[in-house]
Amino acid sequence: MLKLFIAVFSVALLYWLWNKKKQIFYSRNNKVDPFITTIEAIELQTILAWDTPRSCLESHGIRYGKQFKIKNPPKLPHVAGCRCEAIKLFYTSDDVFQGTSPTLTHKSELGDISAKDALLLKNILLKIIDDSESDSFSDLIEQFETNSFSAEIRSKAISLAKHAFAAAKTNNRNNKS
Ligand SMILES: [Zn+2]
Repeated sequence: MLKLFIAVFSVALLYWLWNKKKQIFYSRNNKVDPFITTIEAIELQTILAWDTPRSCLESHGIRYGKQFKIKNPPKLPHVAGCRCEAIKLFYTSDDVFQGTSPTLTHKSELGDISAKDALLLKNILLKIIDDSESDSFSDLIEQFETNSFSAEIRSKAISLAKHAFAAAKTNNRNNKS
């Protein structure tokens, strides 16, 4: 009888230990998980064009969400002529630590362009709005590394900037008269 009791007790003890081990492993695995969490963000994207308003250019590419400095995106449209869109993005905390982000193409008058081309184009367009007093387009464009544009859009991007420059000049003249 005692032998039977010991046998049953041993089996019960082994079963308990086995269960416990499973729990420990399980919680250990669980502890790893929180490092890779999915982050939800809203990114504002405009269409980069010769007539994109200033406030839209400025907010292009800005992200909003719980993990970001600004929690909520502004109400759209920004101003008349605003073509901004609020795009929902998901990426992992790993992306944030590594400095990578979901690769996005950016909309422009020239079609979809890369993030790098979009940033340069945006900076040129903003400069044109800020510097509408400057007389020559070549002086203005010289301040930028236009060779950094992808070869296939470079000349089109420069013509777009030229168009924006001419429009800014006309606007300026109309405002003065
Ligand atoms: Zn806008």
